[in-house]
Amino acid sequence: MHQFTGIQITDKGIGILCDYVQAVRDEIGYEIPVAVDHFGHIGLKSCIRLGKALDKFTLAWYEDMIPWQFADQWAELTRAVDTPTCTGEDIYLKEGFLPLLEKQAVNIIHPDLASSGGILETKKIGDMAQDYGIAMAMHMAGSPISALANLHCAVATENFLVLENHSVDHPEWNQIVTGLPDPLIQDGFMQVPEKPGLGFDDINEDMCRAHLDPRDPVYFDQPTDQWDNEWSWDRLWS
Ligand SMILES: [Mg+2]
Repeated sequence: MHQFTGIQITDKGIGILCDYVQAVRDEIGYEIPVAVDHFGHIGLKSCIRLGKALDKFTLAWYEDMIPWQFADQWAELTRAVDTPTCTGEDIYLKEGFLPLLEKQAVNIIHPDLASSGGILETKKIGDMAQDYGIAMAMHMAGSPISALANLHCAVATENFLVLENHSVDHPEWNQIVTGLPDPLIQDGFMQVPEKPGLGFDDINEDMCRAHLDPRDPVYFDQPTDQWDNEWSWDRLWS
C-alpha cells in the first residue's frame, strides 16, 4: 500500500505535476470542473505536500491519494489541504463508508454501484453520507446498462454530484442497448428514461459480440487457456 512503499515526492516532481495541471487549466479554463486521480503510491506526507501545491488550481477533488481503509489518515489529509478529498470506488457495502463519514475524513464519497452492492445499497450509501454533510460522486467504468442503473440511483439521491463515464468518445458504446437517445450522454448530461426498468428496450447482441471482452463465456464459447497465466490485479484498494 502507498504508505509502505517509502516513495516520496520531490520539489521537482511537484513542479512537473503543477505544470501539467496548469496546462490543462490554460486550455479549458475554470468553468469546467477537473478532478485528479492516480497519484502513484506515495505516502501520506507526500500526498499532503502535493495536495497543498495543487490547491491553487481549485480542482474538484483529490481521489484515492491513499487507500480507503485508513480513515484517520484520510482525516489528516483532508484537514491539511484546501481541496475536497474523495475515496470509495473499492468499497463493498455501506459499512465500509461509515468510518470515513464518522471521522469527516473525506469531503466526497465515491461508490461504484456495480461493486458497492447495487442500486439500493448505493442509494443507502448516498443517503447515509448526506446525513454527515458529505457529497456523493459515482464511480462508473461500465456499459450503458450500468450507467442507467447509476442514473436512477443518482436522481433519487440528493447529495449526488457527478457520474463518471469513460466512453463518450466511443459511439459504439451507446449502441450496446437499444431504445435510448444516441448518444446517451449529451452535453455532459443524461436524460432519465420514462420507460419501465432501467429504461432501455433491449441488448444489442451483435454490438456486444463485436466489442465485449472475448473471455466472456456468454458470447465466446471457446477455450480460454491463453488467459490462464495472465496476471490480474485484484486489489481491494486503489
Ligand atoms: Mg479512481
